[in-house]
Amino acid sequence: MSSESSSAVRGGSRQPSSLMQVAAFIANVGVGSKFTKLDLFRAVPGVAQADRRMRDLRAMGWEFDNYKVNRNLTADEYLLKAIGVRVDLGEAAPRTVRKNITGPKRRRILERDGHTCQVCGIAAGMAFPDVPERTAVLTIGHIIPVVRGGTNDDDNLRAECQRCGDESRDVTVNPPTKQEVLTHIQHLGSAREKRRLFGWMQAGRRVSDDTERAFNNWARLPYAHRLEVMAALAEQVMKDLPAES
Ligand SMILES: [Zn+2]
Repeated sequence: MSSESSSAVRGGSRQPSSLMQVAAFIANVGVGSKFTKLDLFRAVPGVAQADRRMRDLRAMGWEFDNYKVNRNLTADEYLLKAIGVRVDLGEAAPRTVRKNITGPKRRRILERDGHTCQVCGIAAGMAFPDVPERTAVLTIGHIIPVVRGGTNDDDNLRAECQRCGDESRDVTVNPPTKQEVLTHIQHLGSAREKRRLFGWMQAGRRVSDDTERAFNNWARLPYAHRLEVMAALAEQVMKDLPAES
């Protein structure tokens, strides 16, 4: 009996890692709420490297302001801005952590793909429409899976968010029918748009234009900077408006 229970402990539920515990605590704080480092130490006893764990979470799309960027915060306070990959709920860490795609290559692919998921189109750091408190974290995925002979060459790689990069997505999301896709394409309108779509199909990814790249880079700015850039563009847009209409 005792050997049974000890093997259950060994083989079964593992102790959650300190990263998972820190993620669980911070997620529970809620987006838009503050927490202090002391709160974190109290909630997760024995986390000596809370700073490092928070850095790990930042790399997975979690965002917190500190006093350096938000003057309403004291030196030990943090404001939770966005929840990224839920490692505490068993969500997979970005693939790039697990697979061997190097820093410069990763940056090159993300830049080429306009920091946008090539499957669903969400930009890095943007909230998912159906889960607004979660933001997209981009990883590098394979167009042709490695198990089917896909390589790590640039033309077989694309940016994917943590949801689309999840290999189990085929069973969790209802795919459209072939006829629905064909009908949608017929309704695209201009030949230019159809040519553009065809180019994307050939490449196996969206080929982002300059406007999209500008938008995606804007979307990656901190909120205050987004407002400033938007105000700067507003002046130009308003100025040009009467001439155009
Ligand atoms: Zn996606």
